[in-house]
Amino acid sequence: MDMQTSFLDRLFESGLLIDMGVDGLYGRSGQFEDVIAAFERLIDRFGGADGAEAMRFPPGMNREIFEKSGYMKSFPQLAGTVHSFCGNELDHMNLLQCMEVGDDWTKGQEATEIVLTPAACYPLYPTVARRGNLPKDGALFDLQSYCFRHEPSRDPARQQLFRMREYVCMGTELHVTDFRQKWMDRGLEMMKLVGLEVTIDVANDPFFGRAGKMMVNNQRDQNLKFELLIPITSTANPTACMSFNFHQDSFGQKWGLNLEDGSVAFTACVGFGLERIALALFHHHGLDVKLWPASVRQALWG
Ligand code: ATP
Ligand code: ZN
Ligand code: MG
Repeated sequence: MDMQTSFLDRLFESGLLIDMGVDGLYGRSGQFEDVIAAFERLIDRFGGADGAEAMRFPPGMNREIFEKSGYMKSFPQLAGTVHSFCGNELDHMNLLQCMEVGDDWTKGQEATEIVLTPAACYPLYPTVARRGNLPKDGALFDLQSYCFRHEPSRDPARQQLFRMREYVCMGTELHVTDFRQKWMDRGLEMMKLVGLEVTIDVANDPFFGRAGKMMVNNQRDQNLKFELLIPITSTANPTACMSFNFHQDSFGQKWGLNLEDGSVAFTACVGFGLERIALALFHHHGLDVKLWPASVRQALWG
């Protein structure tokens, strides 16, 4: 049995994660949720004075906006769409018949106006653009959402439905790169407070196909993405628990986000993988929260 399987099995046995019969789709215990809630309060303590505007979107987003985002160009392998039955009574009879004999009943499902949110910040950009030009000092947002990615795995740190807490900054290039640097420093400080050993490294997104290779190289060469890594299921391949993304002015251009003077805004986002951080804590300090080091409990629960 490899390490990954055994950590997942221990999480199931302890009840922290609840098996739902699909790799990467889990229930969470009250204790698991309490750790996430405590860590989010720690995030609030670090980010609270910045005056971010909080918004919470559901885990589904407008399909038209998703299409315009270009997600299907870059990550078709990860996307999840919501389909529904839209037929009449005869279609319904056929559907039930199909299910009865074990045929593929999903073929008749039709795409709805909703797709599953792939990253917490996707619904934000067009929402902000609708308001008109950004204020003089730019804008800062606080988001959290369940996100979907079709990447089934037995690694408990790679789930198909998981939560991302994000801060998104819009403004001048200097403004948003300062924001990103500030959160890299804060990320290191926060993880130290909760007793986790971390590194930060340049990273890339899993752009699809041959054209994707060029995107990967470009992203790495220009230091557009950094990750804060914590060993969870492997020390050789530590897990990204935070990401720090600089989009240059690409989202500004795409969504028509402009500064007060009408010039195109730059954007950056910082994402916390909430399940991954909780799993890192359970992996390092043990599955029984009562036995965690006093300093860690103090940082999380005061
Ligand atoms: P990875 O390289 O491990 O796939 P990523 O680069 O795809 O991570 P991002 O797209 O930057 O991750 O997402 C922001 C954060 O969400 C990540 O830093 C991570 O903590 C978390 N995350 C990403 N994918 C998953 C997943 N499948 N399960 C749980 N958390 C995830
Ligand atoms: Zn983002
Ligand atoms: Mg990924």
